Amino acid sequence: MNAFDYVIAGGGTAGCVLANRLSADGRTSVLMLEAGPRDSYPWIHIPIGYAKTMFHPVYNWCFRTEPEPGMNGRQVYWPRGRTLGGSSAINGLIYIRGQHDDYDHWAALGNPGWSHVEVLPYFRKLEHNVRGENDWHGAAGPQWASDIGKPHELVEAMIAAAAELGIPRNDDFNGATQEGAGYFQLTTRRGLRCSTAVAYLRPARHRANLSIATNAQVTKVTFDGRRATSVVYRQDGREHAAVARREVILAAGSIQSPQLLQLSGIGPPALLQSFGIPVVHALAGVGENLQDHLQARVIFRCTKPITTNDTLNSWWRTLAMGAQYLLARTGPMAVGINQGGIFARTDPALARPDVQFHFATLSSDMAGSQVHTFPGFTMSVCQLRPESRGHVRVKSPDPMAAPAMQPHYLSTPTDRATLVAGIRLARRLAAADALSPYVAGEYRPGPQAVADEDLLEFARASGATIFHPSGTCKMGPATDAFAVVDAQLRVHGIDNLRVVDCSIMPTLVSGNTNAPVIMIAEKAADMILRAAA
Ligand SMILES: Cc1cc2nc3c(=O)[nH]c(=O)nc-3n(C[C@H](O)[C@H](O)[C@H](O)COP(=O)(O)OP(=O)(O)OC[C@H]3O[C@@H](n4cnc5c(N)ncnc54)[C@H](O)[C@@H]3O)c2cc1C
Repeated sequence: MNAFDYVIAGGGTAGCVLANRLSADGRTSVLMLEAGPRDSYPWIHIPIGYAKTMFHPVYNWCFRTEPEPGMNGRQVYWPRGRTLGGSSAINGLIYIRGQHDDYDHWAALGNPGWSHVEVLPYFRKLEHNVRGENDWHGAAGPQWASDIGKPHELVEAMIAAAAELGIPRNDDFNGATQEGAGYFQLTTRRGLRCSTAVAYLRPARHRANLSIATNAQVTKVTFDGRRATSVVYRQDGREHAAVARREVILAAGSIQSPQLLQLSGIGPPALLQSFGIPVVHALAGVGENLQDHLQARVIFRCTKPITTNDTLNSWWRTLAMGAQYLLARTGPMAVGINQGGIFARTDPALARPDVQFHFATLSSDMAGSQVHTFPGFTMSVCQLRPESRGHVRVKSPDPMAAPAMQPHYLSTPTDRATLVAGIRLARRLAAADALSPYVAGEYRPGPQAVADEDLLEFARASGATIFHPSGTCKMGPATDAFAVVDAQLRVHGIDNLRVVDCSIMPTLVSGNTNAPVIMIAEKAADMILRAAA
């Protein structure tokens, strides 16, 4: 019989962590089903290959939102990983945990066990930090966090410019405090990408009790009354079923975990009925509470040919870059896109940073597209805790059809004002003594954009996701009508069914989401194993 103790739907960032931890005893049987293929495409593993997977039709779902009113009606491009490791196999590699207060807030919302002091042990457990162990960091975990080898003249100038504006240098955004300017650590291992497929799945994949199926898309969960019993999936054009003796775990990410719940009859009844999906359990919050970070990419022309644009636009420098990478696994190919960053307050009266800057020593029209022909660098600004809320809703009972994604970007006055203030901060940084010698001019939005309305229009016309859609299977107590899972990540009202991925965040963390998802999966694995013991 095709039966396992645990069946995991989605072999992405969280799925690979769960597959490793749940099968670690060598006895518990686990099946992990991944819709995409194996991660054998070489560019996945080379950090600069980010640009090669950004629009790849096989390894990337290449989603688009519905037309967004706040973005001049544009359908914003939403890449998502579609391979083992999921989005951790195609992401920008930046290793950030968020702010301590983010997790204290989760706990205050009625989620016991999720305060910062309670999640810190999981952040330490998951981590192999090349800097070694201390109060904040671990060195014995599977997930590597590495430093960017060599300081870059432009990043140094950015850090010095920030200091002129009173933003201190910070050498560890994941330590005592996040605020400041500095270099990011990256999820790389000796110059290669360290996705969760590399960190967690590779060491576990030969275990006899772990089955991994690729090109296997889960189409629904089936129930005996209100108990989840199995999943149905499509592989090689045929339909299969897998029985879960203990639990079904959805780890399909913020777009597809709520979609799978809705297709299986768990969600807002009116939505399900409108597509003829029989309601198994009414749960108003499934697919709601969607939050994302919107980036406005402020681009400057550089006075010196020291940017990655210059390297990529010269055949001999590209050759040298390739040779450097082959020989030493260092240089621009080992770094990906963003080297440095800033966490800052747009208003000194605020208690904690409300914007993040991603600083790239290159420039292009879209993240991951062809670099400009001139020397350029980018300060991408994003508001850390947006108030705008959207949704993910099925728009067909066909499981192979993408659901509607509607983030409602810039739909509150605070979100609009914060982004505009962030763009103004980028300009102040560019005008500071340390950075201004490198600035030949502002390419985007450009000097003609002066009024707040101009800057907002720039964000509406060219703003993009920074790839963190979250919150669509919100964690919260049963008293919260929009909560989908409880603090143990069990779906409210249903037995033997959990959701473990980025969708469970009740509020988006103040930073990038990959490390938080790995922490969530580590903690979930612990809770699942304890419940079974
Ligand atoms: C281009 C890009 C850049 C990013 N940059 C960064 C960064 O620099 N730093 C950072 O911290 N975060 C970054 N992120 C965000 C971060 O990577 C994600 O938030 C995180 O990886 C999400 O993990 P997850 O487990 O929720 O989902 P995913 O990792 O996306 O995993 C979901 C998996 O489920 C599979 N799946 C979906 N539906 C089904 C189904 N029906 N059946 C079977 N399998 C299914 C998918 O193919 C995928 O493998 C980036 C994301 C992207 C896309």
